[in-house]
Parts: sequence; structure tokens; C-alpha cells
Amino acid sequence: MEQFSKDMMSNLFGNPHSASPSSQLSSRRIDEIRLRVLRFFCADPNEFDVVFVANATAGMKLLLEIFRDYHEESSGPYSRKGFWFGYHHESHTSLIGMREVAGAGSRCFESDEEVETWLSEGGIGTGSSGAADALFGYPAQSNMTGRRLPLDWCGRLRRLTQADRPKIYSLLDAAALVSTAPLDLSDAAQAPDFTVLSFYKIFGFPDLGALILRKSCAPLLGRRKYFGGGTVDMVVCSKENWHAKKTQSLHDQLEDGTVQVHNIIALDSAFDIHERLFGDMSSISRHATYLVKCLYEGLSSLRHHNGQPVCEIYNDGRSEYGDSTRQGPVVAFNIRDAKADWISNVEVEKLATIRNIHIRTGGLCNPGGVASFLQLAAEEMKQNFADGQRCEPELEGSISKPTGAIRVSLGAMSNLDDVNMFIKFIREFFVPPNTETIPRLTRLSEMYSIFPTMCVKTLTIYPIKSCAGWNVRPEMNWDVLPEGLALDREWCLVHLGSGAALSQKACPKMALIRPSIDLENGVLRIRADCSKTEQRSMASEIIVPLRSSLTLLDQASCQATKNQGSRVCGDVVTLQRYTSEEIARFFSSALGVACTLARFPAGGPGASCRQSKVNAHDDIKRLTHAEKGLDERVGRPILLSNESPILIISQSSVDHLNTQIEASGGRKVNAESFRANVVIDETDHSASHAGLPYIEDSWESLHIGRQKFKVSIPGL
Ligand SMILES: *Cc1c(COP(=O)(O)O)cnc(C)c1O
Repeated sequence: MEQFSKDMMSNLFGNPHSASPSSQLSSRRIDEIRLRVLRFFCADPNEFDVVFVANATAGMKLLLEIFRDYHEESSGPYSRKGFWFGYHHESHTSLIGMREVAGAGSRCFESDEEVETWLSEGGIGTGSSGAADALFGYPAQSNMTGRRLPLDWCGRLRRLTQADRPKIYSLLDAAALVSTAPLDLSDAAQAPDFTVLSFYKIFGFPDLGALILRKSCAPLLGRRKYFGGGTVDMVVCSKENWHAKKTQSLHDQLEDGTVQVHNIIALDSAFDIHERLFGDMSSISRHATYLVKCLYEGLSSLRHHNGQPVCEIYNDGRSEYGDSTRQGPVVAFNIRDAKADWISNVEVEKLATIRNIHIRTGGLCNPGGVASFLQLAAEEMKQNFADGQRCEPELEGSISKPTGAIRVSLGAMSNLDDVNMFIKFIREFFVPPNTETIPRLTRLSEMYSIFPTMCVKTLTIYPIKSCAGWNVRPEMNWDVLPEGLALDREWCLVHLGSGAALSQKACPKMALIRPSIDLENGVLRIRADCSKTEQRSMASEIIVPLRSSLTLLDQASCQATKNQGSRVCGDVVTLQRYTSEEIARFFSSALGVACTLARFPAGGPGASCRQSKVNAHDDIKRLTHAEKGLDERVGRPILLSNESPILIISQSSVDHLNTQIEASGGRKVNAESFRANVVIDETDHSASHAGLPYIEDSWESLHIGRQKFKVSIPGL
């Protein structure tokens, strides 16, 4: 960044394609860097050209445009029905997407063997009638497992092409490979026709990608329809639509508009510094390969006390950690507990975040790999999607079947300490000593027979989702409604741009926003205890009427409300957003995020309104959910199975947890940390059976007044 900054401060880079010195400077530097890119991949500039694009995905889209337009016009024997597209099932979503415009059909190759067979049979069966030009795409390295696929497929495909047959082109998605391995295109006969990659994956910066293409593919480009900016020499726009495209070089024909001048210039510094720090790519490859071997051996040897392996590592047996031709520095896996139940990778990621470990979890943009390693059928994946898996999976703790994986990636910057620290982290959190898990479960069954007298210790509502709670004073009566305690999570804060509800995870300062209910005056008062510095001019308190009728909302500080679709944890819900400038300014300056207050419409469209409030409880998970099984006033069952309007925790559970935390040298937590609505406590602490942690987990139902609630325990 420093070298790039110096470059920027001491030169004036103009828009290329002009005669001015600044423009000439840019053109000259870009030409140099283009050559440098080719040299980095040992590609002969007489054989290959580089097209700068935004990222690897944009490179694929550009290629798709070339193929679609070329094969749309009926001018060749094999180009009438569009092109045929073949892809390996471990492809990134960006590559799979190309199938959607392949007019002559597509095929997903389910394994390397299928590709081998297809190649040995001469690449036949491409296209419905077997007579269409074909493009075969695959990743050089799986972005899920890090497995490296054979690079010789490209050369073999080339040799299959004969003059009287449809052509088969190869596309290598090198985005994952090139960050930790050299890519050598020096043997043009063996090299892919098209290679896509993203430079940020190699250098971190700049955000730029490339499509490296074989110059002999030039005839394909001629029919690309679109032109714009740099790619056209002359355009006539009168009665006649005539234009002459640039023909000097392939990149001139393909880089529409102004290239990313400054990003390309930055690439020069990236190459310099990367080389100075790490030498060449093969030393990075050796380093990272050694590290991943250690990581793999460490993780695969972890065992629970009963011998049960901790990590299920996803590789297909062909992968050899330690062999850089077959495996990149990536380990994809899931974790099981001692009973062989799966641990949700959402939980793993959350704990990793606390330790400042950056890992990726979930679907990993590799649906084929995830489906085959996790043995998810297409129907299951669709069902998971319907169940809202796009968003963060709801479940934590142990789950019946994982829908994603944990991926750990190593690179030039990683070292052995990182690897050991990660293994230690997994051991610390997911390999409990023998004594910890068993007693709790036996205690639970013992406790079934004991019924201690319990009382409500505190009653808390969270008027604004993710903000501070407000305690209901003991002398107050408080309504218990089907959707929970009155006014609990009645409001939320939404981003002014995206409309999405803010959460404490992304915006921790929300904890310092303190709403309180003033029943005498019928208002919600909100104070913000955030840093005082930048907000001297800000009102210290903002007041909103409790009554939610639109007429009231229209008055005073909330002149009008807008009905607008918003997203709360992936679900589109209807929220009433306050349009008052003052309210928006108050929250925006308190949080440093452009946002405003919104309200769930009172009694609004029943289900969506209530579900949205329930889903808004995403910051409280490990608590006992009191679930109302039956809305007794109307006598109909509640439709939404995951509805959990009241969150309860017992003081004894918190106390027990604290003894464990203290025993391991940690800091005690308060019951409030769990953001429960109700903290319950045993009335008689001197009783012989006093202090029964997790007793609430053994309850089936709970009565509040005359209403009965079903108890559910998430993750158990
Ligand atoms: C990251 C990646 C991509 C997508 O790269 P973008 O920079 O997001 O376009 C495609 N394929 C593989 C194998 C990747 O690892």
C-alpha cells in the first residue's frame, strides 16, 4: 500500500487512449503490467493475451458473452444451437452459472472418472445432437476442499479437436489455485484456452481479475455484439447502425469502457512487494503445503475421550495433504461431539470469531462439493433453502445433519503458530474432558422427580431488538400476549440504505442504546450512552409514543411512517419506518451507521408480524424458549413451529456455568448477559436439593397466569 501510494502521489495517471502525457503514461504502464501478468504465469505473449476484468466471475461472464454471441448466429456448421457446456461438480457457483445460457445443453461431471471416461471416448455427446461447439470448465483447485484437479485435461481436450468436428474449448478456473501455487502456461499446447483468476486472492489488493485467453481463439470474439468505450473504433448512429470494432489486440476488443487504470497500476506494486516478501510462488506453495499437512494431521488425530474422532474431514481419498499437485492448503471439515452428533458450524464460527480466528463456514459457494461430501440430495438442499438456510441457520449446538462445512485456508502469511493455535482452539471448545458432558445429563434425569418452588427474579423486555433491556418493576402488571411480553422487541433499527434490521453482532454499540417505558406519559424514551465526542449537538433523549396507531405515529416527532418491506434475518417483513429526520439523526450518530427506528405493525398481518418478531430474537439462542403451544384466547394452534416468544433462564444455570467459567480461569457472567425475558430462581436456597442447574431444560410446560406455554430447548 505504501509503494502504491508513492506511485500515486508522484505520477498523474490519465484515462488511456489519449495523446496527453498523463494518458500516455497510463497506457505505457498498463502495457507493461499486462506483460508482467503473462510472465507471472509463464505465458508466451505471442500465444496469450490478458483481459483485465473485475474478478474471476466477471471473466467467466465475459467468456459466456463471447460464446453465446458467437454461437447464436447461424454461420458455421456447429454453431446454430448455441454452445454446449460441461463442468465438474466441484465447481464454484460462478462457473456453474454458465450452464444457464448454454443453448446446446450442459452436463455436470460428477467425478474425475467421468471426465476421464469422457476424454478417452473423444469428448463425444456434447450437445443434444452431438454437434455443437463445447466449452468445458473446471476449477484448478476446489474452493471447498482445496483439492487440486488434474491440469492435463486442458491439453487432452485440445488434442481431441479435429478440423471436421465441433471444437471443444477449455476453461480453467484458477481463482483458488493461484493464491498459493504457481500456474505455468509455458507449454501452450498443454495450457487451457481460457483461464480466469482474481488478483486479490494472490495479493490481497488490488480488487482486479483477469481472463487469460489464447490468441488463436480470436475468431470467436468477432461476433460479440456489445461494444462500448474502448472496444469500438467508429460508430455511426443515424439511420444506419454501423460500427467498426477495435481489432488491434484481443484485450482491445474485450475491455469495454475505461479499464481499472489505478487498480492495474497497483498491480505493479503488488507484484514487487509479493516477490520481495515471498520470492516466487513455488516457495509459497512449499510453505503452505507443509502447513496444511500439519493442520490435517492435527485435526484428524483429535479424539474424544471415548475414541470418537472429533473432525470429519472432507477429502475424497485422492487428496494428499503434503502433495502440492493434489492438495492445496485448505481443510474442509465438520465437528462431531463424543456421541457422534454434529456440531453446528455456525457455533464453531461464532467461537472462532471470539478468538479472532477468520474461517469460512456454510455452503462455501460450492454446491456440488457440499452436496456430495455432506451427502445432501437435491431435494434436501431445496428443503434447507425453503427452511430459510440462506440466512444464518437457526440451529446451534448439535444438529442432525450439517448443511455446510467449516473451511480453514492457509497461505503465504500463515505460520505454524496459526496452525497450532487453531488445533488448540478446536480442542479447547469441542473436545471436553470426560467429566463434563455425562454428569449434566444424568443430573437432568434425576431432577425430573424434584419440584423446587421457583419465583420470578427479574422480568426484562427489550423494546428495541438488540438494544439494552428494560426491567419491569416488581409492582407493575405486565401483559403477556401470544407473541410474548407486551412491547418486547416491538421496535428495531433498520439501515437507511438496505432496509435490513441491524444486529448487535454487526453493530455492537447497540448495547448502549437504552430504551425505557414511561407508562404515565405513554412514551418510549431512548437514551444513547455511546461515545460523547462526535455527538455534542445530539439530543440526549428521544421520545416515541407507545401507542402504535398511525394517527399517533403521524404526530410530533414521527410525522409519518412508511410501510416498507424490510429484512430481518433473511425474512422479508413489513415494518413501519419512522420518517422523522430527528429520529434518524439520533440513532445514526449514536451508532455511526445510517439507520432509523422502525416498528412492527401492531396486530398487523398476523403470522408475518409475529414470526418477524420471533426471528428477531437471533441474539438469544442457548436459552430455554417458552413456546406457547396454543393461543388459548382464540383456541387455535400457533402455526409457526419455531415461534418462541419468551426466553427464560434460571439463576442456578447461570451460577453453575459461572463455577465452570471460574474453574477455567474465566470471568463470571451476569444473568443479564443472556438477554432473557425472565430470570427464574429457586425460592429456597437452603433446601437440600437447592441449586439445580438446567432444571428448566427438563420442563415441558409453564404456566403464566392462566396461560400455558410449551417449553422448548433449542439445540437439544
Ligand atoms: C473465489 C473463487 C471464484 C470467484 O472469484 P471472484 O473473485 O469472487 O469472482 C471462482 N472460483 C473459485 C475456485 C474461487 O475460489
